[in-house]
Amino acid sequence: MAKHTVTLIPGDGIGPEITSAMRQVVEATGVDIEWELADAGEHVMGEYGTPLPDYVIESIKKNKVAIKGPVTTPIGTGFRSVNVALRKALDLYTNLRPAFSIPGTGARYEDVDIVIVRENTEDLYAGVEFEEGTPEAAELIAFVAEKGAGTIRPDSGISLKPISISGSERIVRWAFEYALANHRRKVTAVHKANILKYSDGLFLRVAREVAAEYEGRVEFEDRIVDATCMGLVLRPDQFDVLVLPNLYGDIVSDLAAGLVGGLGIAPGANIGAEYAVFEPVHGSAPKYTGQDVANPTAEILSAALMLGHLGEREAAQGVLAAVKAVLAEGTRVTYDIKRTNTGSTEGSVGTQAYADAIIEKIG
Ligand code: NAP
Repeated sequence: MAKHTVTLIPGDGIGPEITSAMRQVVEATGVDIEWELADAGEHVMGEYGTPLPDYVIESIKKNKVAIKGPVTTPIGTGFRSVNVALRKALDLYTNLRPAFSIPGTGARYEDVDIVIVRENTEDLYAGVEFEEGTPEAAELIAFVAEKGAGTIRPDSGISLKPISISGSERIVRWAFEYALANHRRKVTAVHKANILKYSDGLFLRVAREVAAEYEGRVEFEDRIVDATCMGLVLRPDQFDVLVLPNLYGDIVSDLAAGLVGGLGIAPGANIGAEYAVFEPVHGSAPKYTGQDVANPTAEILSAALMLGHLGEREAAQGVLAAVKAVLAEGTRVTYDIKRTNTGSTEGSVGTQAYADAIIEKIG
């Protein structure tokens, strides 16, 4: 029997190519993993009648750990995001997105080492929405007017932003525990509490309460989200661990990815009390599907996070070291890295050739 069984969700778009590269790299470390294939996305709807079949959730519940490629969310066709549904079904309340400088990426900064801890289950991603023109939207608009809570134009669509004490408490605590376990100096809570008093205001209040328990062990500060974005671009080295509600976390993590060389190299993990699903920050980049050009680094570094989670620290470090070595050499890199370094994609290699270069280093 394999030492670890991991659910593998290739996804769509560039997903199958980058997960194949990832799998080869992980196998090169010699870690004993059995991959249990379970796919999700629009392409499985014909067979299962849903983009997220029950057996996918059951597989993750059984194995506790999964790694996935990106899954496309078609705009305006009715089905909600598979990614959001998966996070909700497994209560994966933490979205961990580290952004750190790697020499050779051509990024604007060389000294970024930021960890983004994004709340993953509530906020504007709760999926509580009212479509413009429906009786439900009209009823809600009338209710708001009746309670003297404000005026909403009758031709509005409405998305609710629920932020709870329990949801905020567990994510902020997770950020502090992560900071302690990983010898990080400071946690910054990011919000817009000056405007959104009852949602972000609550998040900030809870963050301050939790922070008080860690006083003397981990520093704490809070910042408004717009000022945080400017601060990140101006002087990213002032940040360490950031904890954010869902939407700000999503946006700020793409910004952080941009600081260190782009989405092609930004890994991530969705973690709950019982299960963990690893995946890159980026999406399915449909225009690159099947072209063997996408950068698999984000997927491979997500696998390094997964190996660490499985207790395979040496293998995790081996993967990271191999990625760093190939990027530092700069001769066998994908189009995005070449473009950032030289302004042109000329001389770049494909997904598989890049993975082969990493495997060579591991070997
Ligand atoms: P995206 O797929 O992340 O792609 C945006 C751009 O980022 C690409 O055009 C490309 O830039 C760059 N990029 C992304 N991945 C890359 C890689 N591996 N290597 C090199 N460059 C990469 O964002 P999107 O086009 O907004 O989203 C496409 C679909 O993915 C949507 O349906 C969205 O909902 C979904 N999505 C899924 C997930 C997930 O599964 N967790 C996450 C985010 C989005 P250039 O054009 O400059 O080359």
